Amino acid sequence: MQSEQTQSVNTEEILRHLPRLDGVIPMYVGGAWCLATDGGTRELFNPSNGRKIATIAEASVADADAAIAAARRAFDEGPWARTSAADRAALLFKVADAIDAHRDEFMRIDTLNNGKPLRETEYDAVDAANCFRYYAGLATKPHGQTFDVPAPSQTFTVREPIGVCGQIVPWNYPLLMATWKLAPALAAGNVCILKPSELTPLSTIRLAAIFDELEFPPGVVNIVTGTGATAGHALAASMLVDKIAFTGGTKTGRSIMQAATSNLKKISLELGGKSPNVVFADADFDTAVDYALFGIYANAGQVCSAGSRLVIERSLHDRFLDRLVERAKTIRVGDGFDPQTEMGPIISPVHRERVEGYIETGVREGAALLCGGERLGGALAEGNFIAPTIFDHTSPEMRIVQEEIFGPVLVVQTFDGEAEAIAIANDTVYGLAGAVFTQDIAKAHRVIRKMRAGITWINTYHPTYNEAPWGGYKQSGIGRELGTYGYDAYTEVKQINVNLDVEPSGWFSGR
Ligand code: NAD
Repeated sequence: MQSEQTQSVNTEEILRHLPRLDGVIPMYVGGAWCLATDGGTRELFNPSNGRKIATIAEASVADADAAIAAARRAFDEGPWARTSAADRAALLFKVADAIDAHRDEFMRIDTLNNGKPLRETEYDAVDAANCFRYYAGLATKPHGQTFDVPAPSQTFTVREPIGVCGQIVPWNYPLLMATWKLAPALAAGNVCILKPSELTPLSTIRLAAIFDELEFPPGVVNIVTGTGATAGHALAASMLVDKIAFTGGTKTGRSIMQAATSNLKKISLELGGKSPNVVFADADFDTAVDYALFGIYANAGQVCSAGSRLVIERSLHDRFLDRLVERAKTIRVGDGFDPQTEMGPIISPVHRERVEGYIETGVREGAALLCGGERLGGALAEGNFIAPTIFDHTSPEMRIVQEEIFGPVLVVQTFDGEAEAIAIANDTVYGLAGAVFTQDIAKAHRVIRKMRAGITWINTYHPTYNEAPWGGYKQSGIGRELGTYGYDAYTEVKQINVNLDVEPSGWFSGR
């Protein structure tokens, strides 16, 4: 169902607080706004209507190298390394407050640049402020351990920052993905060079303006805008970067891991998924239908942890699918600024074609297209809209069952009994997330414990918290973000041994 009202959006008003140099939105390097040294720029578009919204600087390798040098200086010579945890915490609390104070602006920037509905960007902005607040609080908490070793030694550990961190994020949660990277890294005393997606850099630049206003020391936070092949690769391959943290596709993650071997930098990877949503016949029917829809159609399916495979018990299949299809057809698809909109557009024409390619593949492979599958026209014809789509009667080897589509496309797999449910759920190279719906709590726990995935849910889908770790098994990634795990991932552990009996050891005889 198409959302009827198309809003007229005042782009200039939404972007009024973004800095400009010669009419171009600049990068933020070494505490200053700058354009690309070779004059490179990129045009940005609103995915809901294809209209141009801004022009932004596009970094060359030289610009990325300049940001790396600024970060290196800030870490090696600047005041940041001497800043106390309490001072860093105070600054990060201010970042959180500033995001809250500008929540409406952040929401509208991301809705303009990414297309997702305001109800989603509101969630992102609230969560981003809370994430800065969580890590501001964590910065001053104890992080080391002491060990009961033989006298006269005293042994303990301290956690220290890793140093210069390259951070590369995707377009699906622009503000939130930047926050998940910056907040723990800064709390732990690192310096950062963050590269947002070339498609959605605007809220990150607005965030940089907050760091600038709060007078973070120059070079502590650097934002480089540009493509993965140039700026992104330069960060991953640099000999001067100590850690690379990446969120994005599994194929890109593999290439970043290879580039990071240059100096064996520390690495965190948050990658793709093809997550199972397992529904047993004894599940609460309306709850399971509701979350099956939310699991796949939130953010138009452009969510790494999307419940993109509905794994359903055979005896419930027909009744469940009837209701699911009926409800999928009523989802209001449209411009994210329309308050009626429940599902927004695909990020770009290129990605829309990729999703459409998968839909064609599914039909060719012989799956049954129950609803959707088409591009939306009428008032939405200029945007990148695809109707909520469901494929039934699939088989495990189909590409639409195995590969991440990253769009509003659900594939249905049917099982008989608990063992088959688990086998189907785990039949993927990915292991990011998964859910189980049943009113039998013992069965729910048995199935969840057998699921090879890092983020799991029982009788719900998608909720996640700054306090709890986020990351995947198998080819969905390496390491964890968020919670204390996310903080630890930005620290080195140093062992310190103290001799409490200050005497020569006497190991060698000649004195
Ligand atoms: P992508 O891998 O194409 O791009 C992600 C980022 O990497 C962008 O900033 C891009 O410019 C950069 N990049 C691309 N090629 C690069 C290279 N060779 N070297 C260095 N950087 C490079 O992903 P996308 O299309 O922006 O996002 C969608 C993907 O992100 C999906 O696969 C999704 O599952 C994944 N994702 C994962 C999580 C998670 O937490 N696991 C969260 C969100 C998105």
